[in-house]
Amino acid sequence: MTYYIKADRFLLEHEEKLGGYLQIEEGRFGEFVEATPKNAKIIDWTGHTIAPGLFDTHIHGINGYDIMDGTSEAVHEISKAILPLGVTRFLPTTLTSSKEDLKQSIISVTEAVQEELTGAKSEGIFLEGPYFTDKHKGAQNPNYFRDPNINEFQEWQDLSGGTIVKIALAPERNKAVEFTKKVTESGVLVSIAHTEGSYECCHELIDSGARNYVHLFNGMTGLHHREPGVVGAALTDSRAFTELICDGFHVHPKVAVLASQVKGDKLTLVTDCMRAGLMPDGQYDLGEFSVVVKDGMAKTESNSLAGSTLQLIEGVKNLQQWSEIPLYKVWHKGSLSPAKSLGREHEIGSITTGKIADYVVLDSNINVQAVAIAGEIKFER
Ligand SMILES: [Zn+2]
Repeated sequence: MTYYIKADRFLLEHEEKLGGYLQIEEGRFGEFVEATPKNAKIIDWTGHTIAPGLFDTHIHGINGYDIMDGTSEAVHEISKAILPLGVTRFLPTTLTSSKEDLKQSIISVTEAVQEELTGAKSEGIFLEGPYFTDKHKGAQNPNYFRDPNINEFQEWQDLSGGTIVKIALAPERNKAVEFTKKVTESGVLVSIAHTEGSYECCHELIDSGARNYVHLFNGMTGLHHREPGVVGAALTDSRAFTELICDGFHVHPKVAVLASQVKGDKLTLVTDCMRAGLMPDGQYDLGEFSVVVKDGMAKTESNSLAGSTLQLIEGVKNLQQWSEIPLYKVWHKGSLSPAKSLGREHEIGSITTGKIADYVVLDSNINVQAVAIAGEIKFER
C-alpha cells in the first residue's frame, strides 16, 4: 500500500523539512514531495511533526514488568508499554543473575519474539553482565560476577537462536580481550560497563573490537586530569559509542551537554528503565535487590542508583532543553545513533528513502499522538 503523510514538520536525517508530503510505500519510506499525484491516499497530520521511531538499546522493564521475570508475558507487556512512548525498537536487557534465571530470561524473550510482539519490535537481546567487577557494581549482583567465558556465551547464543546482539563486561576481567575478539567477530556489540578498569585497559578492549560504553559516568571510574580512567577513554575514543541516561539524576545536565558536544552522533540516549517506569513511587525489585523509587529516582538499600524510570522521549526533550541543539539532531541520538551502534542504520533509525517506515507523530509540545511500525499505525491517542 502507498500513502502520503501531510504534516507541518518532518525531522529528516540532515534537516527539518517544513510542509510537504512524505511517501510511504510497502512499509518503507519513499520520496519527499511538494505535491501528491491525483487520487493519492493522504493521511493528514496538519499541525504535527513526524519523527523517526525511537530505539531504546538499554531497557530492563517498565509498567511493573521486567525482562528478568523470565516470562514471555513480561516481554509482551514491555513491548506494548513503550510503543505509545514513541519507541518502535528495543533491546530487551538482562541483569547479572543466577545461571538459571539468566537462561530463563533468554528463553522467554526468544519465545515472545517468536509469538510476535504487538508493540515495539525487539532488535535482539542485550546481556548486561555477568562479567563485571565489584567496585562499581550498581544494582548488578556481585555473587554472580565471573570471568568472560566464550563457551558459556555460545550456550546463551544457541538458546536465543542467535539473537543476542550486545553484551556488557568489565575490561579488566581475565580473558576479556580474547572474549571480545571472538564475540565481536560473530557480530555482537561488546560494551564496557560496571568497571574500575584503567584508561589503558579500556583502550585495549576497543582495539580488540569493543565499540560501546554503557551508561557513561555511571558504573565506572570517573575522569581525573592525571588519570583519564574509563570516562576519559570513552570521551576521547571516536571509535566507541557511549550511552547516556538523560533523566537529570544519573548525569548533571551540564555534564550531559559536555558529553554530547564531545561525542556528537556517537552519543546514544538510553533509558536503563526498570519495572517502576510508568508506575507510582514505592518499593520494587530489580533482580534480587529491593529498590525504593522516590520522586521517580530508583535506588538500592546501599543508595546506588538502580536503573531509571525514564522515558526515552523525555531524555530527548531534556537534552534538547539543556543543550539547545535543534530537535532533529537530538532526536537522532535516540533513533539513528542507537541503530548505528548495532550496524542497523541501513534499515532503521531515520526518515530516509528505503528504510523501514517506523515513525512517530508529535504534537506541538512534542507529545506522542500516534506511532507507526513499518508504515502501519499501531498506536493512536
Ligand atoms: Zn548498568
